[in-house]
Amino acid sequence: MESLKTNSDSQLDQQIRLEEIRLLYGGTPFSFSASVVITLIIYNVLLGHVASQQNLNIWLFTILGVMFIRSIDSYLFSKQDKQQQSQLSWRRRFFIGTAIAGFCWGFLPWLGYSAEVEYFSFIIVCLVGVIAGSLSTLSYRWETIALFLLPASLLLVFRLLIEEQSFSNATSFVLLVFIFFTLTAGKKIFNNTQQNIRLRLEADIRERAIELMHQKHALHLQNTPLAIIEFDIDLNITEWNKAAENMFGYSHSEAIDENIMRLILPRDSSVEAEKLWERLLNYEAVTGSIIENKTKSGIPIFCEWFITPLTNKQNEIVGIAAMALDITDKKQNELAIIKSKEEAEKANQAKSDFLSSMSHELRTPLNAILGFTQLLKYEKTLSEKQHSHINEISNAGNLLLKLVNQILDLARIEKGHLQLSMEKVSLSDCFKDVRAMILPLAEKNNLSLDINIETNGYVIADYTRLKQVMLNLLSNAVKYNVENGSVSLKVLQKENDLVKICIIDTGSGISQDLLQEIFQPFNRLNAASTIEGTGIGLSISKQLVEMMNGTISVSSTINKGSEFCIELTGNLNIITALEHESKMPLSEQPIATVSASDHNILVAEDNPTNQTLILSQLEALGYTAELARNGQEALNKMVNTEYQLLLTDCNMPLVDGYKLAKTIRDRGNKKLPIIALTADAFPERKAKCIRAGMNDQITKPVDLQTLKSTLEKYLN
Ligand code: ADP
Repeated sequence: MESLKTNSDSQLDQQIRLEEIRLLYGGTPFSFSASVVITLIIYNVLLGHVASQQNLNIWLFTILGVMFIRSIDSYLFSKQDKQQQSQLSWRRRFFIGTAIAGFCWGFLPWLGYSAEVEYFSFIIVCLVGVIAGSLSTLSYRWETIALFLLPASLLLVFRLLIEEQSFSNATSFVLLVFIFFTLTAGKKIFNNTQQNIRLRLEADIRERAIELMHQKHALHLQNTPLAIIEFDIDLNITEWNKAAENMFGYSHSEAIDENIMRLILPRDSSVEAEKLWERLLNYEAVTGSIIENKTKSGIPIFCEWFITPLTNKQNEIVGIAAMALDITDKKQNELAIIKSKEEAEKANQAKSDFLSSMSHELRTPLNAILGFTQLLKYEKTLSEKQHSHINEISNAGNLLLKLVNQILDLARIEKGHLQLSMEKVSLSDCFKDVRAMILPLAEKNNLSLDINIETNGYVIADYTRLKQVMLNLLSNAVKYNVENGSVSLKVLQKENDLVKICIIDTGSGISQDLLQEIFQPFNRLNAASTIEGTGIGLSISKQLVEMMNGTISVSSTINKGSEFCIELTGNLNIITALEHESKMPLSEQPIATVSASDHNILVAEDNPTNQTLILSQLEALGYTAELARNGQEALNKMVNTEYQLLLTDCNMPLVDGYKLAKTIRDRGNKKLPIIALTADAFPERKAKCIRAGMNDQITKPVDLQTLKSTLEKYLN
């Protein structure tokens, strides 16, 4: 700002200087011609009356020469451009010319006079000469007056004083007084003129700036894409630019003096308009408000408004200035994006719902297939070939069950229905469990497995889900490994209380471009079709780790192996007590020895296939059982018969498993062990069963061994 000001000040000074120099040179053609004429007249008058004719001639030619040079100088000046004219050297040249002219005229009295000429008439001639000569220097600058008058008059005064006559003394005194007053007056004129020039130029500059501003304003007003509208406090339009015409469809003449609200606001927006008006009347500017407007043809458009009240000197609102930008396209795009997002979410939701219900539907027949297959495995009358076929069915069924469970997980995560129970998970507990579960698979594939189950410390995670993630990573490390390879698990403490768990294999590795897609669901990359898999394990693992506030990463080298790492909050330096029950993988436990029992068990189950299955399983274990087809029937049966244990499905018509358990407990029967048969083993499901008053839960498809051990636990 400061530099801007100094800049414009120096520009002004330069303009003043140019003006001054122009003023100096401006009068020269007239004053020089007048001077020449007077010089010639004086020469004529003095011709033959001066002591030396030769000196007079020299004087004449000198003075004419000076005039000539100064005229050329003046001509040259007129040919210069502004920049050059404002150079100070021109002023200096003019001053020098003036001083030389002064000296020339000052020499006039020194030419001497002949006896025929009366002395005083000679002096008068000289005086006239000096005064006439000063014509050539007529300018507002006091310096030029001084530079001319001082040599011209003082030489005359000096000459007069030499004469020592009273006339000449008096004349010289008058001349001195004249010089004094002329110089004083000249100085004053100079100051005033200087001031006038400055004021005039400043006014010029201001006027020009205002004019420029008006031009710009008019240009903006006409060319801006913003509708610029002004209206008075009666809401009558006073300004309506081209963009406003284009935006709202009313021409300037149609809009002026019309009520703005009636013209461009839809009828039903009067409440919002009132609110806006109130804000403006409170001297509040409105910026970026999006308002629905209407065009002349009644089409609704969306405009973004910037509105400011205009005030007078007394700070009273005299009008409103408003700018509007048509954002209909943007708004429509936004609405379209929101709509398509909603549609995509709906489609995704529908997909998740479909997957989830499909998986549920698949589970029921699958339970039957797996359950009956397991029963058949104990059938002693079957041939070896038949047993081998049953094993195939069992393997395929288990794979299908795994897929169904994973799809269910994915759907639950996407729908946000998956709940985690975060706790301090002892790493040694977790590693012990996963090692036990993965060891048989590693041995089957001739791989060495290196997991240190003595690891200290904990991580903050959901125990079941952490195990699920680690089992997925470990089973992948086994599945995608090479003959006699190895799988190892490494743990390290990172700063900020982070624990990094890495699962490293010696498999064939994954190329860098495929690594980008590895966490996408249903993407099996280039996995050989002989290797069993569904392609969703890693996708679920990633989402689960992130839900546990952790991260998962992968690095891999072709033909060397891969390393999958998860990072979770935790600490390796703290020894944690064993908190979780370690479970051996059921399939690895010795086959259940079927035993007889006198206990009477009530089974509540609505699905006919499941009914047959569970009754057959209980029979195979040597238990007698009665069947109730729903919760209500179970309650009725319990009125007349005493049972030692209740096995109940959770989802049944009339009275479901939860309600059944609650009613039994509410009726005062606290002792009866109630075991739920649930679709999954998630903590939230178990918690719901326990809340309803049940003692335990067995996950479908019911494994004979689990059924046996659970019954034994509660019946003994
Ligand atoms: P899948 O059921 O196919 O194993 P995942 O989601 O667990 O599904 O893995 C996705 C794909 O990533 C696999 O099909 C496989 O191609 C690749 N993959 C996963 N882990 C490894 C690994 N340790 N080594 C090589 N490839 C792997």
